[in-house]
Amino acid sequence: MIPRRASYRDIPLYAPSTRPCRVDLSDNTNLFGVPPSVERVLATTVSRVPRYPRGYAPDLRRALAASIGAAPDEITTGCGSDDVIDSALRAFLEPGDTLAYQDPTFVMVPLFAKVNGLEGVPVPLKPDFDVDADALLGTGAKVIFLCSPNNPTGTALSRAAVERVVEDAPGIVIIDEAYADFAPGKDFLDLARRRSNVLVTRTFSKAFGLAGLRVGWGVGAPELVAELEKARGPYKLTSVAEAVAVSVLKGDADWVRARAEEAVACRERLRGELVSLGLTPLPSEANFLMVPLPGALAVAERMRERDVNVRAFQALTGVGDALRIGVGPWPLMEAALAALREALR
Ligand code: PMP
Repeated sequence: MIPRRASYRDIPLYAPSTRPCRVDLSDNTNLFGVPPSVERVLATTVSRVPRYPRGYAPDLRRALAASIGAAPDEITTGCGSDDVIDSALRAFLEPGDTLAYQDPTFVMVPLFAKVNGLEGVPVPLKPDFDVDADALLGTGAKVIFLCSPNNPTGTALSRAAVERVVEDAPGIVIIDEAYADFAPGKDFLDLARRRSNVLVTRTFSKAFGLAGLRVGWGVGAPELVAELEKARGPYKLTSVAEAVAVSVLKGDADWVRARAEEAVACRERLRGELVSLGLTPLPSEANFLMVPLPGALAVAERMRERDVNVRAFQALTGVGDALRIGVGPWPLMEAALAALREALR
């Protein structure tokens, strides 16, 4: 018999559907294509493959630091922002400690709590989907997790509530900004730069179109970053991924911005169509819309039969059943709308 960690017995493997599908709107990635410089960089980095990458992705750290006017020692990177968040939980919490997180939020967070032996405490968002600062602070948790714009709701948190949490938190506040590129000017990077207890996490998986390369990053005070890197370990970013991310950051910024703007325009057009179907999508600052809909699981299954994959949620706190529809070029939205209309019949 293999030795097993007892606390892992009930942890399911993260298993998103892998059934092939013509229109996949389930993962909020960039459906507009690949940034222009990627192909060239992939071709020219082949020679790096036989050797190890450098430990802590120094080129990308420098490039990211320059892009936000920070110093490289304020930046950390990881194998997706998943890895940055997971490492932060290991770095700042002992097994048995409490992690408080807004609910609903990114599904991996309660899972990371379990895997790291933490007590995950969900704290419902308020009816307006802002964070409940008093309730979160009332948990006394050493780490508080926030997400803005939030997955799966798409809603953003208010500055007043986030600042209140950051000011009064007894420990660290992680602010997951995977979708910040779709809501320019509404981010909390300034808090990560000014306060010693804030880690903002970002990703190249969404607006930057590099989900398959797995590149995430974080911003925080140098002491916080150094602690996190101990828990994360070296070599989490491949040399190829690092080179592509640097190139996209430096050379494809206009492409990324234009595609993000296109996604926002398609999102609002899609909202109009959904409203005319009698649905009420939540306000969104991200590249997806969350649509409360009783029986969403069955509706998603019927859409799936029509070759359109959207993510369905059941009994989400404060929302109920809902569909989450990723936004992309308009022809994909038309396909989704056609499948949805038929599925609702
Ligand atoms: N945070 C949020 C809110 C997300 O939705 C996701 C991906 N779905 C991630 C983090 C992780 O992204 P990645 O690991 O690809 O950077």
